[in-house]
Amino acid sequence: MIKIFNEGDNPELSEIIDDIHELLILQCQRYIEFHNTIHITTWNEAHNRMANYSNTAEVSFGFGISNHYYAGNPHRFIIINWDTCSDAEIEPNEYKAIIMHELGHLLNSPDFLVEPDIMYCMKNHVLYNKDSHQQVRISNALNNELYADSYAVLFGYGDSLLTSIEKYNDIYGVIDYYNERVASINNNAQLVGSVKPIVPF
Ligand SMILES: [Zn+2]
Repeated sequence: MIKIFNEGDNPELSEIIDDIHELLILQCQRYIEFHNTIHITTWNEAHNRMANYSNTAEVSFGFGISNHYYAGNPHRFIIINWDTCSDAEIEPNEYKAIIMHELGHLLNSPDFLVEPDIMYCMKNHVLYNKDSHQQVRISNALNNELYADSYAVLFGYGDSLLTSIEKYNDIYGVIDYYNERVASINNNAQLVGSVKPIVPF
């Protein structure tokens, strides 16, 4: 992972990233192949150029983007909100679980179903149905989280992921798909997805 923050300002995060790197570089073929394409930064460092992600960032511990324009090209990015994490007293293993989950979004992405939105229905001459559109949308969003969780579970971070989710709930209210996610983590569900492609605009 390429660190886009001042390591001197945040030695704790830097060390956490190094630990994850040491683990995955020995165990995950996809990480070996793609780690040099993944940038990791803090919300504090990135907020000026990622203002459109403010709503997400302010109520999350971290998030991942597969196509963020940076230095003229689209890149994979993981953004950690150190402030929200500190407020929630996130511990080192929970940081690792959070980063693993975000790596999961980038390296273990499910096959998304095509969402039958109005444009899709017009193109394919089918009647638009709000409920079926919503169903597919929810199914995609749920799978997106389950596959990301599964990546963290695969490398032994299921328990820390669960405690980080509880800390999230205490501050921000119950996270989306809470019951499904907890059940899947507790079942050690092994969901095998693929690397999310970078698609230039
Ligand atoms: Zn997620």
